[in-house]
Amino acid sequence: MTEENTTISYKKFVGGKGIQNPVWKGGKYISTEGYVFMKCEGHPRANKGGYVFEHILVMEKHLGRYITKSENVHHKNHVRTDNLIENLEVLTRGQHTRHHNLTTKIYKRSC
Ligand SMILES: [Zn+2]
Repeated sequence: MTEENTTISYKKFVGGKGIQNPVWKGGKYISTEGYVFMKCEGHPRANKGGYVFEHILVMEKHLGRYITKSENVHHKNHVRTDNLIENLEVLTRGQHTRHHNLTTKIYKRSC
């Protein structure tokens, strides 16, 4: 989780446009960056609208604890909307940066 990610825009949600979004299903939306957000009021990572990255929530549910600030949840196939537990893994920030530097430079943000 970088500083950049915490300030991710949620334009598609504000202004009620999220409701017209075809992927909108009971408190989910996809940010302009391509990340899936889920409604989770009261979560320590929740943004202004009370939304949290779905991949974080899936991994936290799997682990039974919160993801710490020094950890990143990585999408093994680099598809940000593929939030099945099989596609996710927890890496430390260092491991995650290294992984992306070694594989591709296209994915600058965490995925
Ligand atoms: Zn990644």
